[in-house]
Amino acid sequence: MFMLTVHEVAARYQCSTTLVVGLLAKIGFRNAKPDTRLSAVIVYRLDSEWGDKIRAKRPAAAPGFAGEADDASISARRDRQLKPHIMRIAHARITGGRDAMRNRVSMLLPDPGLVHAIDAAGTRDGDPWGGEVVPGAVHFFGGPMDSGPTAACGWMHMRAVLGEEFVPADDPARENQCPRCAAIAADGKGFRNPPDPYYRSFFCERYLRVRIDGVVTVKDCSLRDLHDGPHRARDGAEWEIGGDDYVPAPAEVGRHITKAS
Ligand SMILES: [Zn+2]
Ligand SMILES: [Zn+2]
Repeated sequence: MFMLTVHEVAARYQCSTTLVVGLLAKIGFRNAKPDTRLSAVIVYRLDSEWGDKIRAKRPAAAPGFAGEADDASISARRDRQLKPHIMRIAHARITGGRDAMRNRVSMLLPDPGLVHAIDAAGTRDGDPWGGEVVPGAVHFFGGPMDSGPTAACGWMHMRAVLGEEFVPADDPARENQCPRCAAIAADGKGFRNPPDPYYRSFFCERYLRVRIDGVVTVKDCSLRDLHDGPHRARDGAEWEIGGDDYVPAPAEVGRHITKAS
């Protein structure tokens, strides 16, 4: 289940966590903290009651944009979209154990049964290795036993994904591969693009870089996922395709705006 924290929701609306906490209380969700995780139902209710009002209220002028210092977050976001998708080996069953510090940790089973194929790039956690094959690496999915993103075969929830690529074998059964995952991977199918709707963000994830008076600024669309009409940042700036059809925010009128590549 896709869960956003109060802090993340506030970031999407570009408002304070205090405001979100207050509005949550108004819809009956009390005692939220910045790191409280909100179900999609709560986020939906919050947005239907207050989303348009938050968006309509223009934020205080940003005190000096972060400008080029934002490059790290921009490239992180761009990476998330452009990362190559590869099929990785995934395990549906794992076990628990203790590490050297006696902490409980998730562990792979020596005999995990059939292994499955998964395109981690389209899952909520993303591809932990950015499309690189990293033998021996493993990433465990959080949440209860029967959760986790589904494999290419469609219904089984994966608990761990490996750094190795899933290469469909000629005889999948002999190689301990799920035959359906092997057939799908051999067909070049089973990729998650766009991400699995179950893991989709509630919000539109689109953003635009523009240069305003020489300073690069990132405009995040503040509307819902799969919304109608142009993307709209909270300050009122709109665009449909990109820099060419950018409509400045009211506060930007008269400023020198160019595309930021
Ligand atoms: Zn499978
Ligand atoms: Zn949008």
